[in-house]
Amino acid sequence: MTCPMCHNPATPTICDECKHQTARDLTWLATNCDDLETNRINRAYGTHKGNGGGGRRSEAPTPVREAIADALYLDRTRNLKQTLNTWARCFNQPPAPDGCLAKQARILNSLDLWAPHKTAVSAIYSTEMHRIVVRLAAIVANMDETKIRLGTCPNPECGKPVYAPADAREATCAHCNNTWTATILRRATDTELCETDAEGTAGELAVMLDTFGIEIAPSTIRSWASRGKLMPILDKHGHATKHYRLADAYKLTDTYKQQHLD
Ligand SMILES: [Zn+2]
Ligand SMILES: [Zn+2]
Repeated sequence: MTCPMCHNPATPTICDECKHQTARDLTWLATNCDDLETNRINRAYGTHKGNGGGGRRSEAPTPVREAIADALYLDRTRNLKQTLNTWARCFNQPPAPDGCLAKQARILNSLDLWAPHKTAVSAIYSTEMHRIVVRLAAIVANMDETKIRLGTCPNPECGKPVYAPADAREATCAHCNNTWTATILRRATDTELCETDAEGTAGELAVMLDTFGIEIAPSTIRSWASRGKLMPILDKHGHATKHYRLADAYKLTDTYKQQHLD
């Protein structure tokens, strides 16, 4: 006899390490599933009305959403809902509907999963669950890494840029440790972008706007210029250059329009 999960030959039944791993995974799910099922899956949609038009960055939001939905509900070989519910059924627990997976994980964690006649079945589903948790944790880490410059710290003694995930509702300044709502920071960003003296080519402006989480293709900026919506900077002889003002380009974005709706 060996541990049915890790096949450690030293134990005749489930080993302590695998038991702890299972409890850790269930705790992770109990902590993170509500956020995954209600917030993150929607955040990953890409468009985001009413957040001041932060706009998502180019990290392909739809595939992120699909990856979450796949791991939670859709993957035919191994999805979280099916795994937890099949496991729960072995303990006469009813299946959890979408949106209740955190609760199901909590229930499972409270059960005697390793009672002698349940060990074999728990080993199967716990192994499956572990693979899904690893997958979901990677998605979450990846989403949190995608930080943008939400705005400039409004603390007059600080004024440093504040970074947070594009969909954050608030953010803490890494320099002065003050926490600001995303709305305040976006307003500060808006003011900054409206007043900036920065200028550059279409490509350079696209990069600058991208650091503020505003995604505009250089070709879009060029088309504004060719249609006369964006005026070039003139050289000393009065000839048009290929440079434009960042503030002018910003005022043509949807982000600006959303900030100035009323
Ligand atoms: Zn083991
Ligand atoms: Zn600050």
